Amino acid sequence: MRYPKLFTPLTVGAVQLKNRFFCPGHGNGLSEHNAPGAHQIAYYSARAKGGVALIVTEIAHVDPSAILSAGSLRIYADDYIPGFARLADALHQLDCHVFGQIFHPGREMAKGPGGTRPVALAPSALPNDRFHTLPREMSVGDIEQVVDCYAQGAARMQEAGLDGVQIVASHGYLPGQFLSSAGNLRTDAYGGSLDNRLRFVREIVTAVRARVGNDFVVGLRISGDEHHDTGLKSEEVPDICAALEASGGLDFFDITSGSTTTVGSSYRLIEPMGGEQAPVAAYAERVKRRVELPVLAAGRVNQVSVAEEMLANDQADAVGMVRALICDPELPNKARDGKTSDIRICIGCNQACIGHRHEGYPLSCIQHPETGRELEFETLPVASRVRQVMVVGGGPAGLKAAAVAAARGHRVTLHEREKHLGGQALLAQRLPRRGEFGGIVSNLTRECELAGVDVRTGSSVDRSTITRAAPDAVIIATGATPRALAPGRSEGAHVVNAWQVLRDEVNIGSRVVVADWACDWIGMGVAEMLARNGCQVRLAVDGYMAGQTLQSYVRDAWVGALHRVGVEVIPYAHLYGANESAVYFEHSASREALVLDDVDTLVTALGNESRRELEFALQDSAIEVHLAGDCLAARTAEEAVYEGLKTGCAV
Ligand code: SF4
Repeated sequence: MRYPKLFTPLTVGAVQLKNRFFCPGHGNGLSEHNAPGAHQIAYYSARAKGGVALIVTEIAHVDPSAILSAGSLRIYADDYIPGFARLADALHQLDCHVFGQIFHPGREMAKGPGGTRPVALAPSALPNDRFHTLPREMSVGDIEQVVDCYAQGAARMQEAGLDGVQIVASHGYLPGQFLSSAGNLRTDAYGGSLDNRLRFVREIVTAVRARVGNDFVVGLRISGDEHHDTGLKSEEVPDICAALEASGGLDFFDITSGSTTTVGSSYRLIEPMGGEQAPVAAYAERVKRRVELPVLAAGRVNQVSVAEEMLANDQADAVGMVRALICDPELPNKARDGKTSDIRICIGCNQACIGHRHEGYPLSCIQHPETGRELEFETLPVASRVRQVMVVGGGPAGLKAAAVAAARGHRVTLHEREKHLGGQALLAQRLPRRGEFGGIVSNLTRECELAGVDVRTGSSVDRSTITRAAPDAVIIATGATPRALAPGRSEGAHVVNAWQVLRDEVNIGSRVVVADWACDWIGMGVAEMLARNGCQVRLAVDGYMAGQTLQSYVRDAWVGALHRVGVEVIPYAHLYGANESAVYFEHSASREALVLDDVDTLVTALGNESRRELEFALQDSAIEVHLAGDCLAARTAEEAVYEGLKTGCAV
């Protein structure tokens, strides 16, 4: 057994987990009427089938007047019990335990009912600087009412047949606000000394236990460090856990990190690509040194070997993987069966998982678009007749299309004109802190290998090649090329595009303007790269902020990096043209001219244009043609892989 620690059972309260993998609570946007429904049950079931021992459901609000996000679960009324019961039943049949998160946001509220600004409650009237919410200090009556809400929520989860609950004190939410020495400024029995600050959580635990008895598991989730001034500090969290263990009633701790309270602390919740690997290990270890109860830990653990190491080093008793399981629900079974090289490793892009969730859509994964769409795609339809399929283009769209078509039983040949597979992903991985992006190429290439795709690199394809091969269907996935500045707009100027910079094909002057129309990774990445190389860089973005189109944690971490290396960001800048020493923009709100002088080189990052040559060449032929990815419309790897899945199913 390669991972002996991970496959050792663990007792948590009244339940025994079959292994040490758990799927921590995370918003997935798959609930129906705020209760588990068919989509969410299918989503969790896919992870249970993949071998995880425990699933903790996403936050379930206990108080109807304090809602963090519109689409998430509720447990403040009996109406929600049947959905939880169906979920518990489904997971138990798959030999998987299930705990529910009982949740109150406190001051961490962005919106109130109907999109209005909220009336938030907190131990003290300290602001949330990210949502710009100033809460009301809770009265003792408010506290008693909320404590009862937690107890009722736990009782409903028990009635639904779940195995336990987790009180969410992590990420700056209400119980954590009471526990924090810097965030709880009360002068009554709920503030001041450690004992007083613990009172709220102790009252919740006591009230919950009084309702659920001793055979129902009750745990506490807490951030090992919240990474902001009024949040929990790493020095105080072990003391808090030790004191809560001593007062009894809890069965486990679940350690994570970060807080939703500030911009700088929020991206530590779901550490994006380029951030630390397994930052939670050190926090969990500090707690584990102080308590006897099982310590679960979750926070950017995306490799099985890292999880095993955390257990071997006695830093945790079980390891939670959110994104790793979003990306590959079968990860535990593959690890058990020695198929580690078949695991599709999460690259930390945050794009389709938390990115979708923040936009109000169900989560998915850029590498595994079947996630969140289990009812449609969990089982690929077997081809009714084997066909010869030719895929042209070995970027993410072509690779996924080929893998899916072959997995369904077709004979698939993939042609890539370059020497290496990957398309634009090979460029994306050259951006600062985006090295992991190359993982998408290795993962999809492995899928092609497993499915038996005949891959031919250095193989250009035109109409005559296709006519000779006479396939039953062609999938064109030829990608895109960089969009250029309109002709005649850059007389005498030194203009290069971002792809040329990434390929190291061009010389760059020392004073650079990056014109970033796309407001994504490329403009920011090239700006950071050039600044690190010693250039004076101005990043002019055609939006209201750099990285406007990116998931907020990715953007915020990157904007921080740009600030550190001295890149000047100029928003609302719509590129007009350039000459030998200046770049001309129009302020996109005022429509006034915006001129940047003293420029040696203009780097354009203006998005891409579809490559349509092959599509046009086949227009009048009788061949069945499908388009996928950027050659259909230039977007990102997410759409490319998703269209690869759909076209692979359509041929
Ligand atoms: Fe990981 Fe990106 Fe997939 Fe999210 S979308 S699970 S971060 S690979």
